[in-house]
Amino acid sequence: MADIIKLLPDHVANQIAAGEVVQRPASVVKELMENAIDAGSTSIKLIVKDGGKTLIQVVDDGLGMSETDARLSFERHATSKISSAQDLFNLQTKGFRGEALASIAAIAHVDMQTRTADNEVGTHLKIEGSKIISQDVVATPKGTSISVKNLFFNIPARRNFLKSNQVELRHITDEFHRVAMVHPSIEFHFYNNGAEIFNLPSTKHRQRIVHIFGSKMEHRLVPVNEETDVVKVSGFICKPEFAKKSRGEQFFFANNRFIKSPYLHHAVVAAFEGLIKSDTYPGYFLFLDVDPSSIDINIHPTKTEVKFDDENTLYAILRSTIKHSLGQFNVAPVLDFDHDPNLDTPYSYKEKGAVLPKVTVDSTFNPFEEKTPSKGTGRGNFHKQSTKGWEDLYEGLGNQNDNQEFSSVVIESESEEQGTLYSGEDIEDHLASTFQLRRKYVVSTVKSGMLVIHQNRAHERVLFEKFLGEITVKEGVSQQLLFPLELTFNKQELAVLKEIKESLTNIGFAFQSLEEETVKVTGVPMMVPESGIGTVLDRLIADYMEGYSDGSISQAELLAKALSRNLAVRTGDVLDQESQLILVNNLFACKEPNLSPFQKITYTIISEGDIDKKFN
Ligand code: ADP
Ligand code: MG
Repeated sequence: MADIIKLLPDHVANQIAAGEVVQRPASVVKELMENAIDAGSTSIKLIVKDGGKTLIQVVDDGLGMSETDARLSFERHATSKISSAQDLFNLQTKGFRGEALASIAAIAHVDMQTRTADNEVGTHLKIEGSKIISQDVVATPKGTSISVKNLFFNIPARRNFLKSNQVELRHITDEFHRVAMVHPSIEFHFYNNGAEIFNLPSTKHRQRIVHIFGSKMEHRLVPVNEETDVVKVSGFICKPEFAKKSRGEQFFFANNRFIKSPYLHHAVVAAFEGLIKSDTYPGYFLFLDVDPSSIDINIHPTKTEVKFDDENTLYAILRSTIKHSLGQFNVAPVLDFDHDPNLDTPYSYKEKGAVLPKVTVDSTFNPFEEKTPSKGTGRGNFHKQSTKGWEDLYEGLGNQNDNQEFSSVVIESESEEQGTLYSGEDIEDHLASTFQLRRKYVVSTVKSGMLVIHQNRAHERVLFEKFLGEITVKEGVSQQLLFPLELTFNKQELAVLKEIKESLTNIGFAFQSLEEETVKVTGVPMMVPESGIGTVLDRLIADYMEGYSDGSISQAELLAKALSRNLAVRTGDVLDQESQLILVNNLFACKEPNLSPFQKITYTIISEGDIDKKFN
């Protein structure tokens, strides 16, 4: 049999590679802007038309290319940036694959003019679908201008896949932000359909962020700075009160590259815990500098996913650094960040004069006195004795209760944390009314005293059992969205979504497809507010990934836990009368009402005896 394996012609190979590197116009923008930065430019102009479908042009004032380099730059694996595999572990540039220009030229009409400082004239090249159409000498300023027209002209399927001009422009703008934010000293201009939409002068990080996101940012940013052996963290977080409902102003950069990391994102969210509402997101702009050899960017062609050697340490450092910054900000609201708050006397102490401590003696106190008149007198049997005592207290009120189950829980002991189970009816019968204490506890009366429920933990328990049930019996009620919601996920997040898709569907989520980065959500569980879908899914994915590393519990349980954590009412949430009652009833209808899914006590009973003692 004759040999049948052939090497693919270059232009075919390039076209295949292009599929990976160039997903949409924004990918071209990213590659061209990064090349301009690698070329040492001080000013970069981005010009797009029709969401980049008609034209994407990047003009820089960088090094430029010689005639030979200009031609070579369009060859695959042609790069000036690395020369050996070793260099991969010490990357200082954005590019290194030598793939971008070759890929772009394979699927578009490219026009390049470039000149180096030591040449009087420059080179003008035209390439269409990998074929050089023309090469001329041209008078052009130092630097490079590349325009890319008719993207995907030879791949109609791809071209049809492109979204509306507005959507594509949004993607381009995202890329522009990411590049511009990390290079504040470079000047950027961005024109769309002839109108200038960004004009960013050379400045520092803080001002660059303000220029991009508007002057409202000015007073929202809290600086973050920490230097350790492993990482240098700098940048800004947004004050908690400006946390947003939507995803958006959250940026991680590692060694001057925009990266996505649900794991590190989680570290930031964890630092904000308790300071912001569950369905809101903190804004952050964080720049991490790590030893280039401890980071691997080679994982994916679009290069937003990176791998750090020591993610766990990074997580811990990030979290505590941000907590520290938040703390500093709370102590010193006057934006005096250089000032060391440790040297401050707490305000309340400063205002107080020195007072002699007072000792008060209760001369009538007799430790051997019996607390309640009691019929039974078994000395060694405190338990029984006090239960009896409690019954006496109610005798006069004609409220005799022989219900064994109930009286067994009414124990006047020192302990506030009695883990005894109540049946739902007992609670209902005796719930006089409820009120909320410090937006944290729901308080009610029960026969034995005062019932105090931790609203967040209790709701977690309720939701946990509900979701666990739904996942296993597949009975979640879905709320169909009138307009499917588009959310973007990275590969890692998508992989997780696929993994848990079935469980998510069981509880009411519906997805159109999980094949592309942009996922259309068409339905959500009744409980999830439309505005919070992105947040819930994000946190779910992060929680799921985190939970998986420690082990053994089932996917259903892990998910139910994550969902309950993310959807439960928080401390700080106001509950109306009805919600309070429902919470109490639902809690005691649970199989395990006394513990949250995270093994924390959900409620306690302060017995009448405990209260009486305080009045002694
Ligand atoms: P990479 O950036 O990975 O090296 P590219 O295909 O993006 O690969 O670019 C190939 C080469 O072309 C680069 O290594 C660089 O030498 C040259 N080049 C590309 N764009 C520019 C530019 N704007 N200015 C100067 N040189 C450039
Ligand atoms: Mg490049």
